[in-house]
Amino acid sequence: MAGLAAENRSHVYTLGQNPTVEAIEAKLASLEHGEACKFLASGMAAISAVLFSLTKVGSHVLFVNNTYGPTLELAERLTTFGVEHDVVLDNDLEAIAAALRPNTSVVWIESPGTMMFRLVDVGRVAELARERGALAVIDNSWSTPLFQKPLDQGVDLVVHAATKYMGGHSDVIAGAIVGSDELLERIFFDAYLLLGGALGPVDAWLVNRGLRTLPTRMLQHHADGLKIARYLDNHPKVRRVFHPALAEEPELLKTQLRGFAGLFSFELDTESYPEVAAFIDRLKLFRVGVSWGGVESLALSPNHGTNADYLAAQRIPPGTVRLSVGLEGAEALILDLDRSFEAF
Ligand SMILES: *Cc1c(COP(=O)(O)O)cnc(C)c1O
Repeated sequence: MAGLAAENRSHVYTLGQNPTVEAIEAKLASLEHGEACKFLASGMAAISAVLFSLTKVGSHVLFVNNTYGPTLELAERLTTFGVEHDVVLDNDLEAIAAALRPNTSVVWIESPGTMMFRLVDVGRVAELARERGALAVIDNSWSTPLFQKPLDQGVDLVVHAATKYMGGHSDVIAGAIVGSDELLERIFFDAYLLLGGALGPVDAWLVNRGLRTLPTRMLQHHADGLKIARYLDNHPKVRRVFHPALAEEPELLKTQLRGFAGLFSFELDTESYPEVAAFIDRLKLFRVGVSWGGVESLALSPNHGTNADYLAAQRIPPGTVRLSVGLEGAEALILDLDRSFEAF
């Protein structure tokens, strides 16, 4: 087969395959220990392609742990096409097993989970999925392939928002899917080509440049994130710190994660939205912004002052502040937090 008949393996049209995009696909496949990789125009393009490809009328998707908001919104949208879903926030295996159904086709994992950074036993959940005939998919954006290699633990597919740490400089939007040749070929023809979320070669070049410094950046995100998490853990105006290093599951930490990213959250000693907003507004080095994983530090709260129901459903305390620790240095960032605490 050649030309358009093998669009996944020929350079006949950039929507299908492009040499610059192919270069980062080879790198990420190797880093994740996967046979094949497809880069797409965004993390959401990757997530959409996977869910469109692996579900049909009557399928069920099980989301394990706190999941990225837009992924859940997409699942909500898929209910209009006859695809059902459930969310399990109790990360114990019994609760997860009980939520699996005969028609579950995908078990979607985030570990650490969005906003609360709780861990799930990735290997055991993947095993449960396999026993029940479902595919296990993980959003590995937080860990990057350097700190967690889920395919080695039996997960079938890894998705990434390369927009975050892989790009690393908040100047590119990209996503990726990694897994077996067979699954990637299926996703390529069933969903990726038809949805059309192709990554352009110039953006692929930016991701490639980001990948070159990924190890160095992740080491600093790891070290400075830990310093700041420990500082917060000892602060009298902080109730709890949600960082995997301070989590209750030490065995999981040892086997699953080789390091910690710089994104985590903590609960201020308040339930008041204006106090949370004022705390964030007083910060100078931590700027307010969505996204994460770049060189500049960011702070935001999942509490918007109007979404108490959502926070309760996701078990997120109203005093939660999420930090993306950048590369400015832990000392300066702690001083910045200190200044804001003084007025708190
Ligand atoms: C940002 C993000 C995504 C989506 O990535 P985009 O490139 O913004 O579409 C997916 N998953 C997680 C965990 C994210 O933080």
